[in-house]
Amino acid sequence: MAFKLPDLPYAFDALEPHIDAKTMEIHHDKHHATYVVKLNAALEKHPDLQGKNIEELVKSLESLPQELQAAVRDHGGGHFNHSLFWELMSPKGGGKPTGALLKALEKDFGAFDSFKDRFSASAAGHFGSGWAWLGVNASGKLIVVTCLNQDSPFRQGVKPVLGIDVWEHAYYLKYQNRRPEYIAAFWNLINWEKAEELFEKSMK
Ligand code: MN
Repeated sequence: MAFKLPDLPYAFDALEPHIDAKTMEIHHDKHHATYVVKLNAALEKHPDLQGKNIEELVKSLESLPQELQAAVRDHGGGHFNHSLFWELMSPKGGGKPTGALLKALEKDFGAFDSFKDRFSASAAGHFGSGWAWLGVNASGKLIVVTCLNQDSPFRQGVKPVLGIDVWEHAYYLKYQNRRPEYIAAFWNLINWEKAEELFEKSMK
């Protein structure tokens, strides 16, 4: 079983005006699709790995055959990161989380707004292509990290809860060089239910 590109959980224009339809179409149908094609090509001679789920594969990066590691890091990471990213946004998103995630954010960052400032600043300040993630570290604490290119937060010992893609392909058509405006718009789209689900999972 080869890896498959998941459908977007909403229409290309569903996140307008925050993210434009053309960006969503190219990002999903071209960029994400290409990660999947290249991941499958890299695994062609490794049928034992094709049945794994993408999270298991990305987590086991260091134990894979040396010649596969770069492809799994880049294309496997790309597939994993984008699959989460689509689900972490929603046309009905925005606002704040509730329950356990909100309590944990307040405990680990002092206040929801302090977390928001920290996440936005990390995403804006990341040099070049990559991602900013909120995640849970080995001590069970919520932290913000950034990852280069398609590296997964697992490689920093962090289980992902919320992530934003800050590659230029994620925002350039609408925002050009104004990455902070794209990050500000992202807060209107966050699917906190999905983030809460990932948070619960990370605590198990
Ligand atoms: Mn992307």
